[in-house]
Amino acid sequence: MQPCSFPASDNVTTRGWGLAVPDFAQTVKSACFLLLVVLCAVAARGASAQEILQADGYKMAGDASRVRIIMQFDREPEVRWLLLRNPHRLVVDLPETAFRFDEAELEPRGMVTDVRHGNLESGASRVIVSMDTPFEVEHFEVVQNESSPGYRLVADIVASSEKAFEAALSDQIGTTGATQTTRKVDRLATPTKPETRKFTVVVDAGHGGIDSGAESSKGTLEKTITLAFALELKKRLDDTSRYDVYLTRDRDVFLRLDERVRIARQHEADLFISVHADTIRLKGISGATVYTVSDKASDAEAAAKAIRENLSDEIAGIEVEEQNQGVADILVDLIRRETHSFSMRFARSLVGELSNSIEMINNPHRFAGFRVLRAPDVPSVLLELGYLSNEADEVKLRDPKWRAKAIDSIVSAIDMFAAAKAGAGG
Ligand SMILES: [Zn+2]
Repeated sequence: MQPCSFPASDNVTTRGWGLAVPDFAQTVKSACFLLLVVLCAVAARGASAQEILQADGYKMAGDASRVRIIMQFDREPEVRWLLLRNPHRLVVDLPETAFRFDEAELEPRGMVTDVRHGNLESGASRVIVSMDTPFEVEHFEVVQNESSPGYRLVADIVASSEKAFEAALSDQIGTTGATQTTRKVDRLATPTKPETRKFTVVVDAGHGGIDSGAESSKGTLEKTITLAFALELKKRLDDTSRYDVYLTRDRDVFLRLDERVRIARQHEADLFISVHADTIRLKGISGATVYTVSDKASDAEAAAKAIRENLSDEIAGIEVEEQNQGVADILVDLIRRETHSFSMRFARSLVGELSNSIEMINNPHRFAGFRVLRAPDVPSVLLELGYLSNEADEVKLRDPKWRAKAIDSIVSAIDMFAAAKAGAGG
């Protein structure tokens, strides 16, 4: 795989592409002569029916924060990719290809708004995937199929900020056709941040809108508690002037879990805190819990809790492609990352601070497979403030003084975490 050398990438338009648009072909010719030489050479070897690359399948799975694309080929394809903006697009360049994609698999889903494919008159072919968000190409490779003939292209795309996308674009413009791309993905994954940038916290008020979350016997709704708490936490953090603070929601509105993750990524958050207040059958259980993500739950109760929280999208009637193996792989990848150790570090410090001011449950740091904690490079925790099923907890949750006490402890934990990160040069 080599990088492409499209210098005027944002001038390229794909509208109506696939129907031999002359402007488009002209732009490609003038902007990417080197690419065409290579591709023509491939085509010139003989474009007889047998030798044309066969693209036999296209699959994608994911949500508003990430998507995995898999294309199947009869043999190893020579592939290049590049980014375009307005809209944000991933372009995959191939030698002349006979596409046998199932059109149903190209239907928009998650962050993908459009998939097009077709042949250029020069004997090259393209697949263009449009997204509704800036993104990063986290992983892009062609691998040989293990259990069947042929090769597959696997691309993992994650939502990112405009700044990160622009950085990747300028990186691409600076890349020549002679450079190998093997390091390119690494560079895209680490956009440089200006020194003046404040430590950024995204506070997520759990549930909202049609999804009320848990409900106490007196009718107190979890979504109301979490919103009040998130607004107060933001105000308190803003007052320090040390942080940039964003809320996933500041009113009673429904948000999908992946949209919450995406908001954290779009703000390049240094920390994501999702606030909740659940109910539990055992009314005697009370106190706060801090959760981090894991593919294996710490205990049965944490596993059940993750299942309840992950139901949020289904409550709103949204189909979740959770069973997809690709998504399961992504979760395992995520847990191996450095981000996860930062999440663990913050969780420990949060438990330490909160223990000084409010009641916590036994073993207050627990973990399970929460979908809302899956931003790949944002340390994330889910804070269960207490149980709406416990009368004493409910009184506390509704008391602004109790909330202020808890918030003071959270701010202390964030102060320590931000200082440690700054000290580590991050
Ligand atoms: Zn909840």
